[in-house]
Amino acid sequence: MYDTEIQFAREVVAEACTLTRTVQDEVVAKADAHTKGDRSPVTLADLTVQAAIGHRLAEHYPEDGFLAEETSGPLRDSPGMGAKVVALAARALPGADLETVAAAIDRGDHPGGPSGRHWVLDPVDGTKGFLRGQQYAIALALVENGEVVVGALGCPNLPAPGERGNGAGFIFHASRRGGAWMEPAAGGDLVSTTVDAIDNSSRAIVCESVEAAHAAHSVQAGIARRLGIAVDPYRIDSQCKYAVLARGEASIYLRLPRDESYREKVWDHAAGAIVIEEAGGRVSDLDGNPLDFSEGRRLATGRGIIATNGILHDQVLLACREELGS
Ligand code: AMP
Ligand code: MG
Repeated sequence: MYDTEIQFAREVVAEACTLTRTVQDEVVAKADAHTKGDRSPVTLADLTVQAAIGHRLAEHYPEDGFLAEETSGPLRDSPGMGAKVVALAARALPGADLETVAAAIDRGDHPGGPSGRHWVLDPVDGTKGFLRGQQYAIALALVENGEVVVGALGCPNLPAPGERGNGAGFIFHASRRGGAWMEPAAGGDLVSTTVDAIDNSSRAIVCESVEAAHAAHSVQAGIARRLGIAVDPYRIDSQCKYAVLARGEASIYLRLPRDESYREKVWDHAAGAIVIEEAGGRVSDLDGNPLDFSEGRRLATGRGIIATNGILHDQVLLACREELGS
C-alpha cells in the first residue's frame, strides 16, 4: 500500500534536498550572512521548496489537501525575494512566474482535521540550524483520516551512521506497517533502519534541540539525571532528532515545553513520528498519549514530545512526571 505515494515523497524530498543544499552553500560561502540574523536565505529556501512540492502535489494528487508552514506573503512583500524564488523554482516548474509560484505556495493553507487525505509539509524544518550551516530537514507526510500513513524526511547534511557533524545527507521514509527505510540523499542503497535495543536507561543517549527557546533544557537535564544518564545530550536541530533515533544513535528525544501554553505544529512532527514508530520506537506527548494529527494545524491537546526506542518509554514518562512533580 501507498507505494506510489512513497515513491512520490522520496522523489520530491530528494529534489528539495539538492535545492536547499545549494542555497545553504551560498549562505555559508557569504560567511557572515547568518551571523547577522539575515533570514532571507532561509526564506528563499522555504518558499522555493514549498512552491516546488505544492506544484507537484497539484499535478499528481489534485484531490488531496496540502497543509504547509509558509504563505506567499514574503514573496509579495519583497520584489527581490519574489524574483529569486521564481528563478530558483523555475528549475522544478518550467515557465513559472510570480503568480503560479505564489499559488503553489498558498495551496498549503489546509486546516487539517480528522477526515480525508492531506499532505503535511515543513519545507525547511530547523531554520536556525540551516542558518548556522548545520542540520535541518525537509519533512513531508501524508495524513489520512487523521492518521499519518506516509512520511519522508530529507536530512541534507546528516553524516554517515555513527558520525556527528555535517555529511552528505540521508533521506528516511516510512509507511504505516511498511517499516522505516534510509537512503543516501544523493542516491544509493535503500536500507531498513531500526531503533536501538537499549533497555538500561543509564546507557541511553538523549537528543534535544540546539535552541534553548524550543525546549526546557534544564528540566530535560533533570529527567536525564533521574534516568542515570551521565553523558551530555546530543543537540541537533530539526526532525533530524527523529532520524538519529530511527538509526539507533540516540534512544530518547525530549521536547519539554518552555511555555505551558505552546502547542506543537503538525509539520514539525508528522514525518518524524511515523519514521520513529516504523523503526520500532514510540512517540507520545508528556502524558504518554499518542500524538493526535487530527486536530488541525497544531497538536492541540497534548503538551511536549517524548520519543524513545519504545523499550525505555514508560521509564522516561515516569522520570518526566517525577521531575515535573505531577
Ligand atoms: P528544533 O530544530 O527541534 O529546535 O525545532 C524547530 C521548530 O521549533 C521550528 O520548526 C518551530 O516550528 C518550532 N518552535 C518554534 N518556537 C517553539 C517553541 N517555543 N517551542 C517549541 N517549538 C518551537
Ligand atoms: Mg519546523
